[in-house]
Amino acid sequence: MRDYSQTQPRIWPQIWPNEIDHLQHVRPEAPVLYFAPEKLADTARRFAQGFDGMTTYAVKANPERAVLDTLVAAGVTGFDVASPAEIALVRDVAPGAALHYNNPVRSPAEIAAGVAAGVASWSVDGLSELAKLIEQVPQGTEVAVRLALPVSGAAYDFGSKFGEAPEGAARLLRAVAKAGFTPAMTFHPGTQCADPAAWARYIETCADIAEATGVRLARLNVGGGFPAATGPHVPPLEAVFDAIHSARDAAFGPDAPRLVCEPGRAMVAGAFSLATRVKAKRECGSLFLNDGIYGLLAEVPLMGLPGRVRVVAPDGSLRDGAPMGRVLYGPTCDSLDRLPQPVDLPGDVEEGDYLIFDGIGAYSTATATGFNGYGAYDLVTIRQPAP
Ligand SMILES: *Cc1c(COP(=O)(O)O)cnc(C)c1O
Repeated sequence: MRDYSQTQPRIWPQIWPNEIDHLQHVRPEAPVLYFAPEKLADTARRFAQGFDGMTTYAVKANPERAVLDTLVAAGVTGFDVASPAEIALVRDVAPGAALHYNNPVRSPAEIAAGVAAGVASWSVDGLSELAKLIEQVPQGTEVAVRLALPVSGAAYDFGSKFGEAPEGAARLLRAVAKAGFTPAMTFHPGTQCADPAAWARYIETCADIAEATGVRLARLNVGGGFPAATGPHVPPLEAVFDAIHSARDAAFGPDAPRLVCEPGRAMVAGAFSLATRVKAKRECGSLFLNDGIYGLLAEVPLMGLPGRVRVVAPDGSLRDGAPMGRVLYGPTCDSLDRLPQPVDLPGDVEEGDYLIFDGIGAYSTATATGFNGYGAYDLVTIRQPAP
Protein backbone atom coordinates (compact mmCIF):
# COMPACT_ATOMS: atom_id res chain seq x y z
CA MET A 1 0.00 0.00 0.00
CA ARG A 2 1.44 3.34 -0.97
CA ASP A 3 2.03 5.60 2.00
CA TYR A 4 0.79 8.99 0.85
CA SER A 5 2.02 10.74 3.99
CA GLN A 6 5.53 9.95 2.77
CA THR A 7 5.13 10.99 -0.83
CA GLN A 8 2.85 14.02 -0.73
CA PRO A 9 5.11 16.94 -1.57
CA ARG A 10 5.28 20.02 0.60
CA ILE A 11 4.44 22.91 -1.69
CA TRP A 12 6.26 26.21 -1.32
CA PRO A 13 4.09 29.29 -1.75
CA GLN A 14 6.65 31.21 -3.73
CA ILE A 15 8.20 31.21 -7.20
CA TRP A 16 11.98 31.12 -7.14
CA PRO A 17 14.11 32.42 -10.05
CA ASN A 18 15.88 29.07 -10.54
CA GLU A 19 16.95 25.88 -8.72
CA ILE A 20 20.33 27.15 -7.59
CA ASP A 21 18.90 30.30 -6.03
CA HIS A 22 16.54 28.13 -3.99
CA LEU A 23 19.22 25.61 -2.94
CA GLN A 24 21.58 28.31 -1.80
CA HIS A 25 18.97 30.09 0.33
CA VAL A 26 17.06 27.15 1.76
CA ARG A 27 19.71 24.37 1.84
CA PRO A 28 16.98 21.75 1.89
CA GLU A 29 17.48 18.41 3.62
CA ALA A 30 14.77 16.61 1.64
CA PRO A 31 14.92 16.06 -2.14
CA VAL A 32 13.42 18.94 -4.10
CA LEU A 33 11.51 18.62 -7.32
CA TYR A 34 11.65 21.87 -9.29
CA PHE A 35 8.81 22.70 -11.64
CA ALA A 36 9.13 25.37 -14.35
CA PRO A 37 5.56 25.99 -15.59
CA GLU A 38 6.79 28.35 -18.31
CA LYS A 39 8.83 25.52 -19.78
CA LEU A 40 5.83 23.22 -19.78
CA ALA A 41 3.70 25.90 -21.45
CA ASP A 42 6.44 26.37 -24.09
CA THR A 43 6.35 22.66 -24.92
CA ALA A 44 2.56 22.73 -25.10
CA ARG A 45 2.86 25.62 -27.56
CA ARG A 46 5.35 23.65 -29.69
CA PHE A 47 2.77 20.89 -30.05
CA ALA A 48 -0.07 23.36 -30.69
CA GLN A 49 1.90 25.18 -33.39
CA GLY A 50 3.81 22.30 -34.93
CA PHE A 51 1.40 19.37 -34.86
CA ASP A 52 -1.44 19.50 -37.39
CA GLY A 53 -4.18 18.07 -35.21
CA MET A 54 -5.42 17.82 -31.63
CA THR A 55 -2.84 17.46 -28.87
CA THR A 56 -4.02 15.56 -25.82
CA TYR A 57 -1.83 14.94 -22.75
CA ALA A 58 -1.23 11.41 -21.41
CA VAL A 59 -1.99 11.98 -17.73
CA LYS A 60 -0.06 8.97 -16.47
CA ALA A 61 3.30 10.59 -17.31
CA ASN A 62 2.79 13.14 -14.53
CA PRO A 63 -0.61 13.66 -12.90
CA GLU A 64 0.47 16.54 -10.62
CA ARG A 65 -2.30 19.08 -10.30
CA ALA A 66 0.11 21.92 -11.20
CA VAL A 67 0.94 20.14 -14.48
CA LEU A 68 -2.69 19.72 -15.47
CA ASP A 69 -3.50 23.32 -14.48
CA THR A 70 -0.59 24.66 -16.54
CA LEU A 71 -1.57 22.61 -19.59
CA VAL A 72 -5.18 23.75 -19.40
CA ALA A 73 -4.00 27.36 -19.12
CA ALA A 74 -1.73 26.77 -22.14
CA GLY A 75 -4.73 25.67 -24.22
CA VAL A 76 -4.69 21.86 -24.00
CA THR A 77 -8.30 20.71 -24.35
CA GLY A 78 -8.01 16.93 -24.31
CA PHE A 79 -6.47 14.28 -22.08
CA ASP A 80 -5.51 10.65 -22.57
CA VAL A 81 -6.72 8.82 -19.47
CA ALA A 82 -6.32 5.18 -18.49
CA SER A 83 -8.44 4.67 -15.38
CA PRO A 84 -11.51 5.99 -13.54
CA ALA A 85 -9.18 7.78 -11.09
CA GLU A 86 -7.47 9.67 -13.93
CA ILE A 87 -10.89 10.48 -15.40
CA ALA A 88 -12.01 11.95 -12.07
CA LEU A 89 -8.79 13.94 -11.76
CA VAL A 90 -9.18 15.53 -15.21
CA ARG A 91 -12.89 16.21 -14.69
CA ASP A 92 -11.95 18.07 -11.52
CA VAL A 93 -9.26 20.21 -13.17
CA ALA A 94 -10.90 20.74 -16.55
CA PRO A 95 -14.61 19.88 -16.52
CA GLY A 96 -15.03 20.61 -20.22
CA ALA A 97 -11.96 18.78 -21.53
CA ALA A 98 -12.25 15.86 -23.95
CA LEU A 99 -11.43 12.50 -22.37
CA HIS A 100 -9.77 9.84 -24.53
CA TYR A 101 -9.84 6.53 -22.70
CA ASN A 102 -6.97 4.72 -24.38
CA ASN A 103 -6.15 1.92 -22.01
CA PRO A 104 -7.56 -0.80 -24.30
CA VAL A 105 -8.36 -3.31 -21.54
CA ARG A 106 -11.16 -2.35 -19.14
CA SER A 107 -13.52 -4.03 -16.72
CA PRO A 108 -17.27 -3.44 -17.19
CA ALA A 109 -17.22 -1.18 -14.11
CA GLU A 110 -14.41 0.90 -15.62
CA ILE A 111 -16.35 1.22 -18.87
CA ALA A 112 -19.40 2.38 -16.93
CA ALA A 113 -17.29 5.06 -15.21
CA GLY A 114 -16.03 6.24 -18.60
CA VAL A 115 -19.52 6.37 -20.08
CA ALA A 116 -20.80 8.32 -17.06
CA ALA A 117 -17.96 10.84 -17.47
CA GLY A 118 -18.73 11.30 -21.18
CA VAL A 119 -15.55 9.80 -22.66
CA ALA A 120 -15.28 11.03 -26.26
CA SER A 121 -12.95 8.37 -27.66
CA TRP A 122 -12.09 4.78 -26.73
CA SER A 123 -9.38 2.50 -28.03
CA VAL A 124 -9.75 -1.23 -28.47
CA ASP A 125 -7.38 -4.05 -29.37
CA GLY A 126 -9.51 -7.21 -29.38
CA LEU A 127 -12.98 -8.43 -30.30
CA SER A 128 -13.72 -9.43 -26.71
CA GLU A 129 -12.91 -5.90 -25.52
CA LEU A 130 -15.06 -4.45 -28.32
CA ALA A 131 -17.96 -6.66 -27.20
CA LYS A 132 -17.73 -5.06 -23.75
CA LEU A 133 -17.86 -1.56 -25.31
CA ILE A 134 -20.90 -2.49 -27.42
CA GLU A 135 -22.74 -3.35 -24.18
CA GLN A 136 -22.39 0.13 -22.72
CA VAL A 137 -20.96 2.79 -25.05
CA PRO A 138 -23.50 4.77 -27.15
CA GLN A 139 -23.40 4.19 -30.91
CA GLY A 140 -21.70 7.00 -32.83
CA THR A 141 -18.96 7.36 -30.21
CA GLU A 142 -15.42 7.18 -31.58
CA VAL A 143 -13.67 3.83 -31.15
CA ALA A 144 -10.05 3.57 -32.30
CA VAL A 145 -8.51 0.23 -33.22
CA ARG A 146 -5.02 -0.08 -31.78
CA LEU A 147 -2.43 -1.41 -34.20
CA ALA A 148 0.88 -2.97 -33.15
CA LEU A 149 3.85 -3.40 -35.47
CA PRO A 150 7.28 -4.78 -34.67
CA VAL A 151 9.02 -1.40 -35.05
CA SER A 152 12.23 -0.36 -33.42
CA GLY A 153 13.50 3.03 -32.31
CA ALA A 154 11.86 3.28 -28.90
CA ALA A 155 13.46 3.00 -25.47
CA TYR A 156 11.18 0.09 -24.77
CA ASP A 157 8.48 -1.71 -26.63
CA PHE A 158 4.79 -0.95 -26.03
CA GLY A 159 3.55 -3.31 -28.76
CA SER A 160 4.27 -6.35 -26.62
CA LYS A 161 1.37 -5.60 -24.29
CA PHE A 162 -1.27 -3.84 -26.39
CA GLY A 163 -2.35 -3.69 -30.01
CA GLU A 164 -3.37 -6.03 -32.81
CA ALA A 165 -1.23 -7.04 -35.79
CA PRO A 166 -2.52 -5.72 -39.16
CA GLU A 167 -4.80 -8.67 -40.00
CA GLY A 168 -6.53 -8.65 -36.64
CA ALA A 169 -6.71 -4.87 -36.69
CA ALA A 170 -8.53 -5.02 -40.04
CA ARG A 171 -11.09 -7.50 -38.66
CA LEU A 172 -11.56 -5.30 -35.63
CA LEU A 173 -11.97 -2.12 -37.70
CA ARG A 174 -14.76 -3.76 -39.72
CA ALA A 175 -16.44 -4.82 -36.49
CA VAL A 176 -16.16 -1.30 -35.04
CA ALA A 177 -17.85 0.17 -38.12
CA LYS A 178 -20.52 -2.54 -38.15
CA ALA A 179 -21.33 -1.86 -34.47
CA GLY A 180 -22.21 1.74 -35.39
CA PHE A 181 -19.23 3.41 -33.74
CA THR A 182 -17.24 6.18 -35.43
CA PRO A 183 -14.15 4.32 -36.67
CA ALA A 184 -10.64 5.51 -35.93
CA MET A 185 -7.21 3.95 -35.55
CA THR A 186 -4.41 4.42 -33.07
CA PHE A 187 -0.94 3.13 -32.21
CA HIS A 188 1.92 3.87 -29.84
CA PRO A 189 5.41 3.49 -31.33
CA GLY A 190 6.99 2.98 -27.90
CA THR A 191 8.16 5.55 -25.42
CA GLN A 192 11.09 7.92 -26.16
CA CYS A 193 11.01 6.84 -29.82
CA ALA A 194 13.92 8.59 -31.52
CA ASP A 195 13.14 7.32 -35.04
CA PRO A 196 10.54 9.43 -36.90
CA ALA A 197 10.29 6.64 -39.53
CA ALA A 198 8.48 4.50 -36.92
CA TRP A 199 5.48 6.86 -37.11
CA ALA A 200 5.60 6.76 -40.92
CA ARG A 201 5.42 2.96 -40.99
CA TYR A 202 2.46 2.93 -38.62
CA ILE A 203 0.61 5.59 -40.61
CA GLU A 204 1.19 3.74 -43.91
CA THR A 205 -0.12 0.50 -42.40
CA CYS A 206 -3.21 2.26 -41.00
CA ALA A 207 -3.91 3.63 -44.49
CA ASP A 208 -3.50 0.15 -45.99
CA ILE A 209 -5.93 -1.30 -43.45
CA ALA A 210 -8.49 1.46 -44.05
CA GLU A 211 -8.26 0.87 -47.79
CA ALA A 212 -8.45 -2.92 -47.54
CA THR A 213 -11.53 -2.78 -45.31
CA GLY A 214 -13.23 0.10 -47.10
CA VAL A 215 -13.70 1.85 -43.75
CA ARG A 216 -13.07 5.60 -43.76
CA LEU A 217 -11.19 6.64 -40.64
CA ALA A 218 -12.66 9.67 -38.90
CA ARG A 219 -9.43 10.20 -36.97
CA LEU A 220 -5.95 8.80 -36.67
CA ASN A 221 -4.32 8.92 -33.23
CA VAL A 222 -0.54 8.81 -33.64
CA GLY A 223 0.07 8.06 -30.01
CA GLY A 224 2.62 9.21 -27.54
CA GLY A 225 6.23 8.13 -27.71
CA PHE A 226 7.60 11.53 -28.77
CA PRO A 227 11.16 11.76 -27.52
CA ALA A 228 12.14 14.14 -24.73
CA ALA A 229 15.34 16.09 -25.45
CA THR A 230 17.74 13.87 -23.53
CA GLY A 231 20.79 14.36 -25.77
CA PRO A 232 22.17 15.28 -29.19
CA HIS A 233 21.06 12.03 -30.88
CA VAL A 234 17.40 12.81 -30.23
CA PRO A 235 15.47 14.45 -33.09
CA PRO A 236 13.54 17.63 -32.22
CA LEU A 237 9.76 17.32 -31.93
CA GLU A 238 9.37 19.26 -35.18
CA ALA A 239 11.23 16.51 -37.10
CA VAL A 240 8.73 13.96 -35.80
CA PHE A 241 5.82 16.26 -36.73
CA ASP A 242 7.21 16.60 -40.27
CA ALA A 243 7.52 12.83 -40.66
CA ILE A 244 3.94 12.36 -39.44
CA HIS A 245 2.52 15.03 -41.77
CA SER A 246 4.44 13.73 -44.81
CA ALA A 247 3.39 10.14 -44.15
CA ARG A 248 -0.24 11.19 -43.71
CA ASP A 249 -0.24 13.15 -46.98
CA ALA A 250 1.46 10.37 -48.93
CA ALA A 251 -0.62 7.52 -47.50
CA PHE A 252 -4.08 9.07 -47.34
CA GLY A 253 -4.00 11.92 -49.87
CA PRO A 254 -6.48 14.80 -49.63
CA ASP A 255 -9.17 12.81 -47.78
CA ALA A 256 -6.91 12.12 -44.78
CA PRO A 257 -8.35 11.58 -41.29
CA ARG A 258 -7.85 14.31 -38.71
CA LEU A 259 -4.88 13.67 -36.45
CA VAL A 260 -4.67 13.34 -32.67
CA CYS A 261 -1.54 12.85 -30.59
CA GLU A 262 -1.13 12.01 -26.92
CA PRO A 263 2.35 12.86 -25.69
CA GLY A 264 3.23 12.14 -22.08
CA ARG A 265 6.99 12.08 -21.66
CA ALA A 266 7.95 14.70 -24.25
CA MET A 267 5.38 17.16 -22.90
CA VAL A 268 6.46 17.10 -19.29
CA ALA A 269 10.00 15.69 -18.92
CA GLY A 270 11.90 18.95 -19.43
CA ALA A 271 9.72 20.99 -17.09
CA PHE A 272 11.10 19.36 -13.93
CA SER A 273 14.50 18.85 -12.36
CA LEU A 274 15.40 17.09 -9.13
CA ALA A 275 17.90 18.19 -6.50
CA THR A 276 19.20 15.35 -4.33
CA ARG A 277 21.65 15.92 -1.52
CA VAL A 278 24.88 13.98 -1.06
CA LYS A 279 24.50 12.25 2.33
CA ALA A 280 27.86 10.55 2.26
CA LYS A 281 30.98 10.20 0.15
CA ARG A 282 32.74 6.87 0.59
CA GLU A 283 36.47 6.40 0.38
CA CYS A 284 36.03 4.52 -2.89
CA GLY A 285 34.37 7.63 -4.34
CA SER A 286 30.81 6.39 -4.47
CA LEU A 287 28.05 8.74 -3.27
CA PHE A 288 24.94 8.14 -1.18
CA LEU A 289 22.05 10.41 -2.16
CA ASN A 290 18.79 11.20 -0.37
CA ASP A 291 16.72 9.91 -3.29
CA GLY A 292 17.07 6.90 -5.55
CA ILE A 293 15.33 4.31 -7.67
CA TYR A 294 12.45 3.87 -5.21
CA GLY A 295 11.84 7.61 -5.40
CA LEU A 296 11.96 10.08 -8.24
CA LEU A 297 14.83 8.31 -10.06
CA ALA A 298 12.72 5.18 -10.61
CA GLU A 299 13.07 5.26 -14.38
CA VAL A 300 16.83 5.68 -14.60
CA PRO A 301 17.62 1.92 -14.53
CA LEU A 302 15.23 1.41 -17.44
CA MET A 303 15.85 4.55 -19.49
CA GLY A 304 19.25 5.92 -18.50
CA LEU A 305 19.80 9.47 -17.29
CA PRO A 306 17.15 11.86 -18.66
CA GLY A 307 19.51 14.83 -18.99
CA ARG A 308 22.54 16.58 -17.58
CA VAL A 309 23.57 16.32 -13.93
CA ARG A 310 24.98 19.42 -12.23
CA VAL A 311 26.72 19.49 -8.85
CA VAL A 312 26.08 22.53 -6.66
CA ALA A 313 27.90 23.31 -3.40
CA PRO A 314 25.76 24.56 -0.47
CA ASP A 315 26.91 28.15 -1.21
CA GLY A 316 25.36 27.89 -4.68
CA SER A 317 28.61 27.59 -6.64
CA LEU A 318 28.85 24.96 -9.37
CA ARG A 319 31.46 22.26 -8.84
CA ASP A 320 33.71 22.04 -11.89
CA GLY A 321 36.52 19.62 -11.03
CA ALA A 322 37.75 17.12 -13.63
CA PRO A 323 34.97 14.55 -14.26
CA MET A 324 35.15 11.21 -12.54
CA GLY A 325 32.77 8.22 -12.81
CA ARG A 326 30.93 7.66 -9.54
CA VAL A 327 28.55 4.99 -8.34
CA LEU A 328 25.37 6.63 -6.99
CA TYR A 329 23.35 4.92 -4.27
CA GLY A 330 19.86 5.85 -3.05
CA PRO A 331 19.01 6.20 0.64
CA THR A 332 17.16 2.92 1.30
CA CYS A 333 18.70 -0.21 2.79
CA ASP A 334 18.03 -2.17 -0.40
CA SER A 335 21.18 -2.98 -2.36
CA LEU A 336 19.23 -2.62 -5.63
CA ASP A 337 18.90 1.07 -4.79
CA ARG A 338 21.77 2.31 -6.96
CA LEU A 339 21.98 3.71 -10.46
CA PRO A 340 23.08 0.96 -12.83
CA GLN A 341 25.95 2.88 -14.44
CA PRO A 342 28.55 5.12 -12.81
CA VAL A 343 27.81 8.79 -13.53
CA ASP A 344 30.54 11.26 -14.53
CA LEU A 345 30.60 14.03 -11.93
CA PRO A 346 33.06 16.79 -11.03
CA GLY A 347 35.88 15.33 -8.96
CA ASP A 348 35.50 17.99 -6.26
CA VAL A 349 31.98 16.91 -5.18
CA GLU A 350 31.61 16.83 -1.38
CA GLU A 351 29.18 15.56 1.22
CA GLY A 352 26.39 18.14 1.61
CA ASP A 353 26.48 19.12 -2.08
CA TYR A 354 23.43 18.87 -4.30
CA LEU A 355 23.14 16.87 -7.53
CA ILE A 356 20.58 18.37 -9.92
CA PHE A 357 19.11 15.89 -12.39
CA ASP A 358 17.45 17.59 -15.38
CA GLY A 359 14.56 16.26 -17.45
CA ILE A 360 12.93 14.39 -14.57
CA GLY A 361 9.27 15.35 -15.17
CA ALA A 362 7.97 12.13 -16.72
CA TYR A 363 7.25 8.91 -14.84
CA SER A 364 8.85 10.24 -11.65
CA THR A 365 6.22 11.62 -9.24
CA ALA A 366 3.83 9.12 -10.80
CA THR A 367 5.75 6.06 -9.62
CA ALA A 368 7.73 7.26 -6.57
CA THR A 369 7.24 5.15 -3.44
CA GLY A 370 7.68 5.74 0.28
CA PHE A 371 9.78 2.59 0.64
CA ASN A 372 11.88 2.39 3.80
CA GLY A 373 10.52 5.72 5.06
CA TYR A 374 12.09 7.72 2.23
CA GLY A 375 10.32 9.30 -0.71
CA ALA A 376 9.14 12.60 0.78
CA TYR A 377 10.12 15.59 -1.33
CA ASP A 378 9.34 19.29 -1.69
CA LEU A 379 7.82 20.67 -4.88
CA VAL A 380 9.22 24.12 -5.68
CA THR A 381 8.11 26.31 -8.57
CA ILE A 382 10.84 28.13 -10.47
CA ARG A 383 10.74 30.63 -13.28
CA GLN A 384 13.45 29.05 -15.45
CA PRO A 385 16.09 26.37 -14.91
CA ALA A 386 19.54 27.89 -14.29
CA PRO A 387 21.78 27.68 -17.39
C1 LIG B 1 1.68 5.94 -21.87
C2 LIG B 1 0.84 6.26 -23.02
C3 LIG B 1 1.05 7.46 -23.73
C4 LIG B 1 2.19 8.39 -23.41
O1 LIG B 1 3.39 7.82 -23.83
P1 LIG B 1 4.77 8.67 -23.80
O2 LIG B 1 5.77 7.71 -24.29
O3 LIG B 1 4.97 9.08 -22.39
O4 LIG B 1 4.57 9.83 -24.70
C5 LIG B 1 0.20 7.77 -24.76
N1 LIG B 1 -0.81 6.93 -25.09
C6 LIG B 1 -1.05 5.77 -24.46
C7 LIG B 1 -2.18 4.92 -24.89
C8 LIG B 1 -0.23 5.40 -23.40
O5 LIG B 1 -0.46 4.25 -22.77
